[in-house]
Order: sequence, then structure tokens, then C-alpha cells
Amino acid sequence: MKKLLVCALMAMSLFGCIEEEKTTGKKVLLVSFDGFRYDYLSKTDTPNFDKLVDSGVISEGLIPIFPSKTFPNYYAIATGLYPENNGFIANNMYDPEMDARFTISNREAVENPDWYQGEPIWNTVEKAGKKSGTMFWVGSETPIQDMRPTHWKQYNESMPDSARIDTVVKWLSYGNGKEVDLATLYFSFVDARGHRHGPDSPEVIEAIKRADDLMGYLMQLLNQKQISQKTNLIIVSDHGMTDISRDRVVILDEMINPDDLEVISYSPAMMANVKGNNLDEIYSALKANEEHFNVYKKEEIPERYQLKKHRRVPELLLVADIGYTITTREYFESRANYPSGGNHGFDNQAREMHALFVAHGPDFKKGYTAKPFQNVHLYSLMAHLLEITPAPNDGNLDSVSVLLK
Ligand code: AMP
Ligand code: ZN
Ligand code: ZN
Repeated sequence: MKKLLVCALMAMSLFGCIEEEKTTGKKVLLVSFDGFRYDYLSKTDTPNFDKLVDSGVISEGLIPIFPSKTFPNYYAIATGLYPENNGFIANNMYDPEMDARFTISNREAVENPDWYQGEPIWNTVEKAGKKSGTMFWVGSETPIQDMRPTHWKQYNESMPDSARIDTVVKWLSYGNGKEVDLATLYFSFVDARGHRHGPDSPEVIEAIKRADDLMGYLMQLLNQKQISQKTNLIIVSDHGMTDISRDRVVILDEMINPDDLEVISYSPAMMANVKGNNLDEIYSALKANEEHFNVYKKEEIPERYQLKKHRRVPELLLVADIGYTITTREYFESRANYPSGGNHGFDNQAREMHALFVAHGPDFKKGYTAKPFQNVHLYSLMAHLLEITPAPNDGNLDSVSVLLK
């Protein structure tokens, strides 16, 4: 505060601080807790989140893109592009031109830039002559457009959460213009608990408390390093979570022979090609029994999913109703506890799929609650906060300018 005052006085007389302002400008710190549903903060005491919300902004929900899965949403946030424009149409994909498959556990695929289209925010930052550091974010481990963030890490699920924060705060607080302007942080434990125990479990409440403790630790470090006042902190999630159960299943065998499908991505947004020339027959059989799910031929996929134009989308899309699981008799009967716990990937309009959004910092209003908005607008928001020119994208600042002072 003292330094600020001195700066203000000097600026008034000599403009002495203008140079310093340029090199130590405002920063964006984008934090994500995977699978943190929009309403999780109301499930338990979250004193650290509460402080941020009271002196910042919260949205009634961050609307994910469809399918409400992890990789498509992180990459939509990074690029401001819908799946049909950035190529991330699912967690599991087949690309007919590349003749290759993508799964999130396949390191070679995750680190192959050919899967990633569009321009992620860290490239926009680097192109503007600024610096970025990613402590995990989908796409940051591969040279998209032959570029890399200034600092990046290969995804390491077992890296302790506090060590992630320590590293990112170090990147943000280097002196001599070496500090980054944009940093990202990612934590997976809320999603893992949600899948295993369901969104209404005590285990998820424990995870929410842990997330709150981590935000307390982060704010303490940002204050210690005296960078909290120039950091626009944006805390998000990729999607929500809903409970699933053995009572809510769609058994494919009751409609078709599942062996006729070549499944590429699984429930609740099942994507498949049909083996042989049976597309019409299989489609008609599914359509005639369309209960607790919807079936679409590729060209029929609703516009609002912003999906069907991409070559990676196969012939059929089946979308389970919220809380339902599409499966085969064999899979269902050979697993006594399947399905159970929680899942996501459903229609992105379903309230249960909506995610967390909280922001705090010099450019955000104080004590303001916004209506739900789509996560593709975050790219434009970050570009605006960093005063850099965004690449062409599907979002716009107007949709989120209500958050700003
Ligand atoms: P989902 O299947 O949509 O629930 O995906 C969540 C999983 O994505 C979590 O278990 C994370 O460990 C994993 N994940 C997140 N980021 C990455 C990454 N950069 N590389 C590989 N896996 C990741
Ligand atoms: Zn996720
Ligand atoms: Zn998940």
C-alpha cells in the first residue's frame, strides 16, 4: 500500500512510476478445480471462498460446452472455441484424417499438437510479448502453433497441491520482468471424489473444504509477495457432477446388437460408428426406443452442441438423460457396483453440469452475483484483463463485461 502511495505521488509529479507499471502490470491467475459443481460452495463452510466472493464476483453457474467432459472443456476455456472449431469433441476421439485415436491416458496422444486446433490463451500472451506459466492445463504440454508457455509442466497427478501453488506464486513474483503475466493452476481431487462417492457424499464435502484451504493458502502467499492487489484471480471448474445408479440404465442390447457399434466415446455422451452398412437400421431401432436417452445421426446433432461440423464426430451420438448410464448387458451384469457414484458428460444445459465461477481482483466488481454464462467467453475476458488482442474465437467480452468494474 505504501509503495502504491509513493507511486501515485511520483506519477502525479514526475510520471516516475509509469515505466514500473508497464513491467509489473496486472496479472491473471486462472485456477481450476475439476468437477466442482456450481452449488458446492453452499454445501459446507468455505471461509476462504466466502472472502473472495464478498469482495469479488460469483456466477450462478459457469455453463460448460457439450460434452460436459474434462478435456473438451479445458480446451474450450483455453481457446474460447467450441468443440467443432478447436477439435476437442470428446475425451476419447478418432480422427479419420490422422487415422489415430485420442484418449486422455495416452501420453503420446496428449502431447501430440495435431489434436489441438485454435489458439490457446498462453500463445496469445506469448505472441503479445508477455509471459505465461501453466501448472497444468489441457493443451499446455504440447507445442500448439509451434509455441510453448514460458513455464509449463507435464501433467503429474501426484504432485502435492501446495507445491503447485508454491511454484505458480514463484512464477508470478519473479523480479526484473521475469515474472509471468498469466498463470494457471489445476487440481483434480474434487472430480475424483465426485466420481467415486457421488456429489452429495461426505467425501465431496471434505474435498470442498480442502479446496477452500488451498485458496486460503494461495491468498496468503499472494499477500506475502504483495501481488494480490494486481492479480485478477479467476477460479473455475470444467463441469459439474450428478449421481448415477444401477436403477437408471439404458441397456443397448434391448434395442440393437451392441457388437454392430464401433464405440469411440462412452456414456453419457456415447459416440459411435456403425459397422458395415447398417446405419439406418441401427438408428431406427434406437430411435424407436428412445427412452431416457436421445439418439442423433451426425447431421441431426442439435446446433447448440456446436459439435457436428467436425470430422472427428462419428456417425451416431447417444446422449443419456441426466443421471442415466448407457451400457451393455454384459458390462452391466458383470459389475455389481456399476454404475454408482457420480458422472458428468451430460447435456450442458442440465443444471447439475454447471460449474464454479468466482473471480476477485482489481478489475472485478465487489460483492456482485452474475447470471450463468458460457465458459467460451473466458478467453476474451482473460485477453481483455491482460490488454492483449484475442485471436478469432467463439466468445465475446460483452457476455462477461457485467463482471467488470
Ligand atoms: P474425466 O474423465 O472427464 O473425469 O477426466 C478427469 C481426469 O482428467 C482427471 O482424473 C485428471 O487426472 C485428468 N487430467 C486432467 N488434466 C490432464 C492432463 N493434462 N493430462 C492427462 N490427464 C489429465
Ligand atoms: Zn473434469
Ligand atoms: Zn470427471
